[in-house]
Amino acid sequence: MTRPRTYLDYNASAPLRPEARAAVLAALALTGNASSVHGEGRRVRAAIESARDEVARSVGATPSEIVFTSGATEANACVLAGGWDTIVLSGLEHESVLGPARASGARLVEVRACGDGVVDLDALRAAMAEVSTSGGRGLVTLQLANNETGALQPVAEAAAAARELGLSVHTDAVQALGRVPMDFAALGAAYMSLSSHKAGGPAGAGALVIRDGVELKPLVAGGGQERRRRAGTENAAAIAGFGAAASAATHELAAMARLARLRDALEDGVRQASPGAVVVGEGACRLPNTSLIAVPGTKAETLVIRLDLAGLAVSAGAACSSGKVGASHVLETMGLSGRLDGGAVRISIGHATEESDIAHFLAAWKEIAAASELAA
Ligand code: PLP
Repeated sequence: MTRPRTYLDYNASAPLRPEARAAVLAALALTGNASSVHGEGRRVRAAIESARDEVARSVGATPSEIVFTSGATEANACVLAGGWDTIVLSGLEHESVLGPARASGARLVEVRACGDGVVDLDALRAAMAEVSTSGGRGLVTLQLANNETGALQPVAEAAAAARELGLSVHTDAVQALGRVPMDFAALGAAYMSLSSHKAGGPAGAGALVIRDGVELKPLVAGGGQERRRRAGTENAAAIAGFGAAASAATHELAAMARLARLRDALEDGVRQASPGAVVVGEGACRLPNTSLIAVPGTKAETLVIRLDLAGLAVSAGAACSSGKVGASHVLETMGLSGRLDGGAVRISIGHATEESDIAHFLAAWKEIAAASELAA
């Protein structure tokens, strides 16, 4: 008999929402290129523009500010390759920000996070002030929510300070979409990256939101698609699925209180079974769906494997493309990598998570704890 599986890794990729599946299938049934003037082309165009409206509405942007991309990695790369002289970034950023920042040739100024997983805002302000006096084009990149801890970052505060200093702001908002209310207009950033598959859409679609009036050199040049901001025939099916997922996820924001209750029940259960367990970033204002749990002295990879054998999909920090699990740079920048040298297990829940899934997790955790040193 196959053991039922419980999926608790939404921050790596959320299950496809039924609304997104339906939109993908409807778009796949269309024929034509959205740039063609005939009826077939216009129907594909209509599907893309409808998705653009849905994504824009979900994040408080205007449709003209949405540039569809292959995902957030491309959106991040496009902003970071924008010819900056200096880039101020937090040590919490995702690899898809850190990699292109290092490759950009810009001077990098990295700001550490506090022990609760929130960037040190005083240090960030000081770094911005220093950069503003050094001349040239300066970018500040700060994620909206961390993918490992779920800690929300003070992007609006950073953007307000950056504006005074003449610096541009980019935010990687991948983990926030559909999990906390978002308002691009109020945030004050010039650029924002989004990903479809973290919100229950298909992988391979995302968006770069560029404030109206802000210019950015395209990363992919060629045809005139996306108002000359991203060349290449649009992936209409994935974009349609992204639109439907963004819309459904945003309508469900009220359901986030339900997720926060499930997350709290999970964390309480873990603490009871393993009094030594640490919920990383617990003191921060954080996403309602994410728990990062470390048991000092226990390797996170071992826990992930044991939980997998018990039918549970969780991850050790961020899922990385090679499938390898290394030391987390997020724990490192929080100053926790020494104390929590075994790493931490990330449990991330979402729209399809039920109480029974949390019960499955806790039963497995207790069994593992009873059989090992976890309860110590
Ligand atoms: N930024 C963050 C914070 C992420 O968690 C991820 C995915 O893991 C990405 C960017 C990359 O997104 P995509 O898979 O759409 O390229």
